[in-house]
Amino acid sequence: MGKESCVAAIGQAGENLVNLAVVMNGSSHSAGGHGAVFGSKKLKAIGVKGTGSVKIGKDKKELMDLDAYVMKEIVGANNQHVVPSTPQPWSEFVYENSRWTAREGLTWGASEGNIDTGIAAPGDVNKVGYRTMKAIKDLGPVAAKYTVRMGGCQSCPIRCHAQMNIPQLEQYGVSPYAANTCMGWFSPAGVMFKGTKDQKEEGDGNMITRALGSQLADDYGVWCNYGSIGRDFQYAYESGILKNVLPEDEYNSIPWNLLEAGDPAFLKEFYRRITFKEGEFSHLGDGTYHIAKRWNFGADYWDTKKYSMWSPLGFPKHHASDESYQVGAIINCMFNRDAQSHSHQNFISSGLPVDVLKKIAEKLWGSGDAIDPPANYTPMNQYKAKFAKYGVIRNCLHDSLTLCNWMWPLTASPLKERDYMGDTSLESKYFSVVTGIDTTEEELDLMGERVFTLHRALTVKEMGTTDMRGKHDLMVNWIFDIDPDKKPFTEGTIKMDRDDMQLALTMFYKEMGWDEKTGAPTRATLERLNMKDVADELAKLGLLPA
Ligand code: SF4
Repeated sequence: MGKESCVAAIGQAGENLVNLAVVMNGSSHSAGGHGAVFGSKKLKAIGVKGTGSVKIGKDKKELMDLDAYVMKEIVGANNQHVVPSTPQPWSEFVYENSRWTAREGLTWGASEGNIDTGIAAPGDVNKVGYRTMKAIKDLGPVAAKYTVRMGGCQSCPIRCHAQMNIPQLEQYGVSPYAANTCMGWFSPAGVMFKGTKDQKEEGDGNMITRALGSQLADDYGVWCNYGSIGRDFQYAYESGILKNVLPEDEYNSIPWNLLEAGDPAFLKEFYRRITFKEGEFSHLGDGTYHIAKRWNFGADYWDTKKYSMWSPLGFPKHHASDESYQVGAIINCMFNRDAQSHSHQNFISSGLPVDVLKKIAEKLWGSGDAIDPPANYTPMNQYKAKFAKYGVIRNCLHDSLTLCNWMWPLTASPLKERDYMGDTSLESKYFSVVTGIDTTEEELDLMGERVFTLHRALTVKEMGTTDMRGKHDLMVNWIFDIDPDKKPFTEGTIKMDRDDMQLALTMFYKEMGWDEKTGAPTRATLERLNMKDVADELAKLGLLPA
């Protein structure tokens, strides 16, 4: 179709109707587990060819001025981290885990000219794309010399997808060129849970494993359920379940010696069997909920932190209570998959000290008590409920507006002269300029609230119950039972309190205008959000709270 085109396609996993099949849109860009929907319609791909320019509603100078402001004053590195990972002359803070990894001497080692990421200070707009040297975050220090450049999504200045040239991949019959980010790299390492063996230098076994697995998963079009495919496999193997459920000849046909030896060639077996639905083993591609039922997983799967599950409905934690306490817990309860929401986490992990974050929180949600210091959290309060609502609503807005929730909302800024305050009105400003429809931050947030309340109403309808608290907003036991010698709300633990979490749900339901007992949307709220038709439909089905 030519260079002006863009293609969304399924791989063989989608063709074979594997539950965990994705729609791929270029290497390292994929969408959840929708590939089998394409496959069921015998739809291999959709190609789009651009034939013109994108028109905007207002004067283009307004858009360019807005871009300049964001690039100079607001934007940070990936995940809107606004503090560097190493000491820099421009920053008063350092945060070791920051994704703002650029520094002098850290290069894209496989690039022409061995480009140095250098000092990429705030305001230096032409170096924004150097800030996030994510190859070393995702693949380890050894990855620097195999990095061609950082790539990313269309038009995004951040560039958080590492583009690699790893010649060692060719021994497995795949291209040496690999690109991915985050879980795309991590998940294959989860499959190789026995560890990886270095080949020539320290850390290269891990890098090669991640790169090979990401290529196989992307080429076949297999989703990892936010890493759960590896954890499901690990549990089934370690518990002995796999040996029991697989026919003996099938079990013996699997090259376990490769897994035990940390040889990434095992990944070729793993992904191929799932993709082509080879034998009982391939049911790992059904997803956690189904495989746990089919293979009768024990309670220990859900109740052990190591397996990272969040909900008995079959999805894993994703920036949950272990990182942001009640706020993360509420957000993880709200979705029907892992909570793919970074609105709260980007702010908490921005790298700014807690006292700075608290000042910003006070302006946005009424009190610094909306956030807690690490592993020293406090009981639920109304400010946390407001913060959680902000997180959920902005996430829905970003998905609807096609903004990246891995960056947005831009709640913090790297600039001291702004008191590190970001700009939460930016989504509405961009919306106004692009559409030509003047829209305030409050009006746009109301649209986000409408989107998420409709999502909730659909969940009520599909589950056939208003009892969201008892049937949907569930949490696994490990979050309440870890650290048996410690009590919740004491320093040094992430242990949650059962009563406090029920109170947290009640306070969040109240913020959303939902029924405080069940967590289902009420008629009054649906009508306030212009969804009388939804209220009428739920009433007809007997699914409106009394
Ligand atoms: S849009 Fe998001 S995921 Fe894509 S390159 Fe930018 S920060 Fe990364």
